[in-house]
Amino acid sequence: MSTTSTPATTNQQSFDRARGILPGGVNSPVRAFGSVGGTPRFYVKASGSYVTDVEGRSYIDLVNSWGPAILGHAHPEVIDAVQQAASRGLGFGASTPAETELAELVRARISVGGVTPIERLRLVSTGTEATMTAIRLARGATGRRLLVKFAGHYHGHSDGLLAEAGSGLATLSLPGSAGVTAETAAQTLVIEYNNIAALEQVFAENGHDIAAIIFEAAAANMGVVPPQPGFNEAMVRIAHEHGALAISDEVLTGFRVDPAGYWGLDARGDAGGARWVPDLFTFGKVIGGGLPLAALGGSARIMELLAPLGPVYQAGTLSGNPVAVAAGLATLRLADDAVYSRLNQVADTLSRETSAALTAEGVEHVVQHAGNLFSFAFSATAPLTFAEVKAQQGYRYAPFFHSMLEAGVSLPPSVFEAWFVSAAHDDGVVSKIVDALPAAAKAAAA
Ligand code: PLP
Repeated sequence: MSTTSTPATTNQQSFDRARGILPGGVNSPVRAFGSVGGTPRFYVKASGSYVTDVEGRSYIDLVNSWGPAILGHAHPEVIDAVQQAASRGLGFGASTPAETELAELVRARISVGGVTPIERLRLVSTGTEATMTAIRLARGATGRRLLVKFAGHYHGHSDGLLAEAGSGLATLSLPGSAGVTAETAAQTLVIEYNNIAALEQVFAENGHDIAAIIFEAAAANMGVVPPQPGFNEAMVRIAHEHGALAISDEVLTGFRVDPAGYWGLDARGDAGGARWVPDLFTFGKVIGGGLPLAALGGSARIMELLAPLGPVYQAGTLSGNPVAVAAGLATLRLADDAVYSRLNQVADTLSRETSAALTAEGVEHVVQHAGNLFSFAFSATAPLTFAEVKAQQGYRYAPFFHSMLEAGVSLPPSVFEAWFVSAAHDDGVVSKIVDALPAAAKAAAA
């Protein structure tokens, strides 16, 4: 019996074949193009600002691996660091000095007005693990049961965090996930984002039993919806007044929007210091430079409740994997002020030009920013909550998306996702994107 198979040569063939073995043909739902329709692209390589599919067609990439690739794809110094680390061994199941170096770098970067809240860091492999562990830690630290989260905020796919969890579920029009028990779901209280009264109420009613509130430092999984001025500060204050911990999920924003994440943009006090300080931070994406690596960090008092020092268990065969650590270290070391200013510049130009193209075609829209993360909502006013995000004319996005894809620009395949720029988007690339916008805006207007 022959074991050879014909290699797939088109995206459609690749997708058809994948659907025969991978549920939905993918290993993460949004990749299936569910909400925009059409054939997902199957990529074979990526370099700088471009990704190339199995048909040999290249696209300017505004997904950037869903966030990690702030330097663009396959930055030579990151690849070199990864190759060197790989040549020394793929993993030892024991500690390496580089893990300490990466953790020290994170501690130094997460600093606002002289406040450095990360005294200890634990490396894990995915953002889901980081938030899951942070919650267990909060429960262990407080001896309390309940968790508060916001509708539309996404914190990974652990059971307790899937209620009204933003983009992935919204793309599939699901309120939550089957397979989560009612008992587990009941321990997560979901409230409206950007609504101080809802916060006060949930804490007034359940404060004695709330272990933590978890929040995206700026929501970017329901499209980008920044916190209203002062919202994060008020939230952390209210949580602390009730003895609950505040967990700032910076898996997506961390090291992308500022060296100190969204906290670096939002917390700086007028007279130095930080206006709000979460008890725990979670990181992912950029910290691993494109390889599977994530982390949680906070004060020594709380973090040292983790095993082996304390009673809260967490472990990982691949935690702190040396190749992933090498990619993260190289990426963070390269991500200097010039990189952040380029990211901001590209985001400014693209959001402004996209908005102008939509306006020229009479398409009602708003653009929202969280630093260099941005997205568009097809509505008259800026949505502040998940309900408002979902009320937009979301059907306009699919034709816009496909027009851009045909023109060689790969956007996130859902209106509920942020656009991700990279420092590799040079002026030539930016103008190619801009050239594609009028036709896409016309498609959105139809
Ligand atoms: N938290 C936030 C804010 C995220 O955006 C994500 C992923 O997009 C996660 C957690 C989960 O991370 P991962 O996909 O690495 O499990």
